[in-house]
Amino acid sequence: MASIRDALGESKGLSHDGRDVAITVAVCIFVATLVTGLRLWLSRRQGPLFAMPDFMTLASLLFFYSYAVGTYMILTIGRSGYPTSQTQHWRLTFTLKWIYYLRLGYATGLGLVKCGILMAICSSQAASSKATRIAIRVLMAFCASWSLMAILLELLNCRPLSYNWNLDRSDGHCINQNAAFLAVGIIDAVTNAAILLLPLPQLIRAKVTRSEKLAMASVLAMGILVVAVAAVRTVAIARADFHSINGNIKMVSIWTTVEWTVAIMVANAPILWSLLDWLAPFRSIENTQSFPASINMDTGREFDYIVVGGGTAGCVLASRLKQHDASLSILLIEAGPDASTHPLVPDGSKAAQLLGSELNWSYKTVPQNHLDERVLSNHAGKALGGSTAINSGGWMRGAKEDYDLWASLVGDPRWSYQGLLPYFRKLEHHFDSHADPEIHGFGGPIKTESVSHTGRKYPLRQPVQAAWAAVGLTYHPDINSGSPYGLVEVVENRVRGSRQMSSTAYPLDVEIMTETFVKRVLVEERHGRKIAIGVELEDEKQSQLIARQEVIVSTGAYRTPQLMMLSGIGPQEELRAHGVNVVLDLPDVGRHFVDHVSVAQWWKLRQPEKGLAIGSAAFSDPAYFRGNPVDFVALQSVPLEGLRQALTKDEPNHNPDEHPLISSQRVHTETITVYVAQNPHDPMVAVDGTHITTHVCCMLPTSRGSIKLADRDIRSAPRIDPNYCATETDRYVLREGLRRLRQALRDTPAGQEIIESETVEEKFQPLGPNTDDQTIDDLIRRRAMTLYHPTGSASMGKVVDGELRVKGIDGLRIVDASVIPTPLSTHIQACVYALAEQAADIILGISSV
Ligand SMILES: Cc1cc2nc3c(=O)[nH]c(=O)nc-3n(C[C@H](O)[C@H](O)[C@H](O)COP(=O)(O)OP(=O)(O)OC[C@H]3O[C@@H](n4cnc5c(N)ncnc54)[C@H](O)[C@@H]3O)c2cc1C
Repeated sequence: MASIRDALGESKGLSHDGRDVAITVAVCIFVATLVTGLRLWLSRRQGPLFAMPDFMTLASLLFFYSYAVGTYMILTIGRSGYPTSQTQHWRLTFTLKWIYYLRLGYATGLGLVKCGILMAICSSQAASSKATRIAIRVLMAFCASWSLMAILLELLNCRPLSYNWNLDRSDGHCINQNAAFLAVGIIDAVTNAAILLLPLPQLIRAKVTRSEKLAMASVLAMGILVVAVAAVRTVAIARADFHSINGNIKMVSIWTTVEWTVAIMVANAPILWSLLDWLAPFRSIENTQSFPASINMDTGREFDYIVVGGGTAGCVLASRLKQHDASLSILLIEAGPDASTHPLVPDGSKAAQLLGSELNWSYKTVPQNHLDERVLSNHAGKALGGSTAINSGGWMRGAKEDYDLWASLVGDPRWSYQGLLPYFRKLEHHFDSHADPEIHGFGGPIKTESVSHTGRKYPLRQPVQAAWAAVGLTYHPDINSGSPYGLVEVVENRVRGSRQMSSTAYPLDVEIMTETFVKRVLVEERHGRKIAIGVELEDEKQSQLIARQEVIVSTGAYRTPQLMMLSGIGPQEELRAHGVNVVLDLPDVGRHFVDHVSVAQWWKLRQPEKGLAIGSAAFSDPAYFRGNPVDFVALQSVPLEGLRQALTKDEPNHNPDEHPLISSQRVHTETITVYVAQNPHDPMVAVDGTHITTHVCCMLPTSRGSIKLADRDIRSAPRIDPNYCATETDRYVLREGLRRLRQALRDTPAGQEIIESETVEEKFQPLGPNTDDQTIDDLIRRRAMTLYHPTGSASMGKVVDGELRVKGIDGLRIVDASVIPTPLSTHIQACVYALAEQAADIILGISSV
């Protein structure tokens, strides 16, 4: 065989047919490269990784390049296009070998595009119904089989294999090539038509803007073109003379090239949406009433707003949106039941029993590394009203400094104390009508009551106050002033002792679905942007409901990250590990989780017969039961020098004086003294009025935990790891809180007057004045438990912006405790209420305060 240089030197140039083929291939390669390049560039801009369909299109393009190279080789060296009789023998062999490869390349490359297109349809909302998803998978298998069939046919149609190109062999034989390639061509055209028809019903039903219709029509036209070209190519194959291959491959080559190119263009159709973005960048989901394409409208009902999670925040938000504009259609979806008539709910003193009821999700943590691998119970409300259906009703706004830190972290003054104050006032119906109206509100739906206001004159009130005073803690009259340092009287949100749930305190004139799980938020790509368009329910029909304006997730700090991840929004490794399609890689979903941790102690009363605690027959005044049996919480800072050392131990490279725990006055610990005690384990304490309980709580923990997926089932609990007491700082704070409490109860005359001893586990000693750190750490490991204040798992600044919009997804917000980005030194329901109040204003674009 002559060398390539010689072969080209001898060349007479391209034949007339060869030129046509060469020009077609050049134009097609240019177009395919351009659209694929644009598509990949856009994918790269929108996310850190290409998705699988991108890779498949890219792989197909590479095959297409090799196909083009092969075609040019046979046109130049093989002199394809000239009559076979005028072509040297070796050139014909050369051509036949390349044609053999071109067929294999075509079958593989086109198969890749087809499967890539189907995969993209499958992960879009066009595949919203189960039936469509099944149909797509079947078709994908069919396309892959077509590809395989074409390859196998190529490999097997002539025996021996070299008979395909060795013109000197006479001992071989081939099957009827026209019939075989015709079959491949027909199946190709049929699969193309099926790919085109599959999403057609959704496209027809979709309500879209004119420009989107134009984009869809273009994709449709290209799809029809692929089908038509495949059909024409099939006819060309039927007519081809395989015995005179060099003379009549023109039409087969041209149609093959065109079909492949248009298929690649269809695969890259998403660039059309980005193009629309450039043409009309002002359009977004917020200002349009239109819907994206490809919604499964079989079950779809439409609402302006869909609020997922009828809990504390969800009820407030749904109510306020409706109150502002009665014409809005709002759907509130809650996994739990309507608990308003539940026998245990109204009675504020039944909180403990509620924890054993069906209104509690009854979560468990993973074994806690720093707490002797203990698995802890973490409660959360499962009812319309959410955790307000089972919580203890403590009403505390917390300290100004916490909110100011929040605002500075996210660079948005609306989340500072001053920013939220109008909403704290708006929602509040303060018990004292003479209080300062700059601080308190008097017309809001949440009625508050203090211990004194309800007439609860607990016998231990005075001695407890005196004991704390003796260790330097002064009485502060208003827990909700924004500066609650010292010993403050407890306030609860109750109406004459009865529980107030968010679902009953706020009018809920909206459509409500209870006992209904939302399985995922539906997200679609439009204009190159990702947009939440509705939700899918975990019901038999996999019902899909459409949100014309927004989907708002309010499923609480445990479930919100779970729902986000099961909707494909979250850390991509975590999603992939559970086989969830990645819609958006948002690594902070489920991270930065914080929970308050507390350590309980039981104290034996010196004179229980006086009726000092629940369980004693003499503790009988009915007023005592109009709220929690508590007078005060002690809110304190810990000694700063020790705190500096602990912070330095945790973060050696940081200046502790710049740490927010030190740089301003903060409430590091809260100590609650409760006039009841019960412990079923060692040390056994019965509810007999002989003991009281104290809880020392670490209010600004530096430990951070996580919420991860346990599996892909929305009904399963997520994997909860609060990572309690992971830092020396948290342990130091708890140690100091425990020491201060011991001092108040054991070293002061008032304390000694009421407390006889601390009741501890059989093998342990009560804390003493000189108990060392190690012993207290041991106590912390044995006893630490949650205060049920989970926050931070969809942190503002990381997962949502200051307007509570999920970063990278239009039309989707999160409004619940999960967005709180920094620990608050308070019980958090008041904050969640105010957050939801402000969220309603932000969503509506108004200021109601
Ligand atoms: C036992 C207990 C005692 C507490 N005591 C106090 C206290 O005294 N004072 C205080 O200030 N705070 C207290 N808290 C904390 C406070 O009540 C909560 O932090 C706060 O109410 C959380 O509000 P949220 O809106 O973020 O979530 P939640 O109120 O928990 O609402 C989330 C809702 O979403 C629903 N949901 C979840 N997943 C789905 C889904 N896939 N589809 C549909 N619905 C779903 C849930 O059923 C729930 O109703 C207590 C909490 C508990 C559990």
